[in-house]
Amino acid sequence: MTTIVRNYVGGAWRDSSASETLAITNPASGEELGRVPLSAGSDVDAAVQAAKAAFPMWRSTPSPQRARVLFRLKALLEEHKEELARMLTTEHGKVIAETRGEVQRCIENVEHACGIPALMMGDTVEEIAPGIDSASWRQPIGVFGVITPYNFPVMIPLWFWPYAVATGNTVVLKPSEQDPLTHQRIVELTEEAGFPPGVLNVVHGGQECVEAMCDHPDIVGISFVGSSRVAEIVYRRASAAGKRVQALGGAKNYLIVLPDADMDLALEACHSSIFGSSGQRCLAGSIVVGVGDAHAPIRERMLDAASSVRMGDGLDESTDMGPVISAAHRDRVNAFIDQGEADGAKLSLDGRGATVPGLEGGYWVGPTVFEDVAPDISIGSEEIFGPVAGINRAKDLDEAVAMMHGSRYGNACSIFTTSGKAAREFRYRAGISMIGVNIGVAAPVAFFPFGGSKGSFYGDLKAQGRDGVSFFTDQRVVISRW
Ligand code: NAD
Repeated sequence: MTTIVRNYVGGAWRDSSASETLAITNPASGEELGRVPLSAGSDVDAAVQAAKAAFPMWRSTPSPQRARVLFRLKALLEEHKEELARMLTTEHGKVIAETRGEVQRCIENVEHACGIPALMMGDTVEEIAPGIDSASWRQPIGVFGVITPYNFPVMIPLWFWPYAVATGNTVVLKPSEQDPLTHQRIVELTEEAGFPPGVLNVVHGGQECVEAMCDHPDIVGISFVGSSRVAEIVYRRASAAGKRVQALGGAKNYLIVLPDADMDLALEACHSSIFGSSGQRCLAGSIVVGVGDAHAPIRERMLDAASSVRMGDGLDESTDMGPVISAAHRDRVNAFIDQGEADGAKLSLDGRGATVPGLEGGYWVGPTVFEDVAPDISIGSEEIFGPVAGINRAKDLDEAVAMMHGSRYGNACSIFTTSGKAAREFRYRAGISMIGVNIGVAAPVAFFPFGGSKGSFYGDLKAQGRDGVSFFTDQRVVISRW
């Protein structure tokens, strides 16, 4: 019998009012794992009302007590780590080592949010005028909406809701409709950890739910992660409705290799940055720029390594790369490759038409390498979100940085060099938020802000850490004379 995922509202699992459902499949085989309902605005409203009703009780629960509930969740996530990683590989497709890493990132965010009593501390200044003192307190605000993408379907919700809940707010989450199952299991663990009803609510669906969340008068703020197109829509719509918004979008990340780099290290980092998770990461490398004499060795190594990637079921520990999320996404990535060829880029390794014996129903795209990618063609300017590398050449660091600055995105970038001076110069001039030095996927850990700049980010406060605490609280400043 087909399982239809249920919404979670006020501490109870409830059928969505929707009659329309979409299939959730195992991308390695195409097998249907369940169906997700496209919930309506009325389902969102029910979840918001449950969150609103729970807010006064949760807000007045002392912060050390809220932290203890999160501590119990952290212990449960650790206990169930392998089970969650296996579920995640089954519905997403990425290899088990990557899903173990993703669950670990969830744990680290819950762990960091456990420190909430200290993270919420305000400031005090005595004697700002004769006999007058001033102090600030951070307070929760109400119901927050969280809307997340398919590529990290458990880590990204946990960039937000542990902080929202720890600070005393309540939450309505709308996960990606493509792979919502593992997060459902995490919701069960929140029940076991003792989350009171209504503190965390989940509504499944697509555009209609998102629009209802942006417009809902009882939602005070929205955290969004997804493509830049939708990030901008959500940012504008929710801001126009008077909400605070943080909206993280897409990316086109450059990896710059200088001639003095350790080429083995650079290869390893560029390769896993581009082909890890089949390129479905906002931090995925997209264009490798070999500067001067670095071009020939990095090109040769990249082509060699890309040609020997083992594709398969991510649950098999010997698999290097899994499928992409859906047949539609495979077709979209293939269309980019078609267009790149038509636009005159040199296609040196073609992943179209890849198959895996025994898994013919899976959504496969093999490693693909283009060379000499002009910045104004679609594969040079748009986010492909698949296992497609571009390898370009620059005469010096200035030219490489100029190529990178031509992109409308500003999520992440990396430099590979043994020169501290060059690395410092790059960091200073990059103008991009997440910067790797001899690191291919510069993913900030839980206590640093995660988010980009330029067309990769709409808002000001980013995900995780202190920014998360600021986003989910308002400061009250008290000036007193006794
Ligand atoms: P997406 O934009 O298609 O969907 C994201 C969310 O928005 C989903 O919950 C979806 O249901 C909803 N949505 C989709 N279309 C909508 C519409 N027209 N109106 C309102 N809501 C809509 O993104 P995706 O394909 O799930 O995820 C991949 C994208 O997310 C990539 O662009 C990737 O770079 C980006 N991403 C960014 C970061 C970051 O930190 N900046 C992290 C992860 C993923």
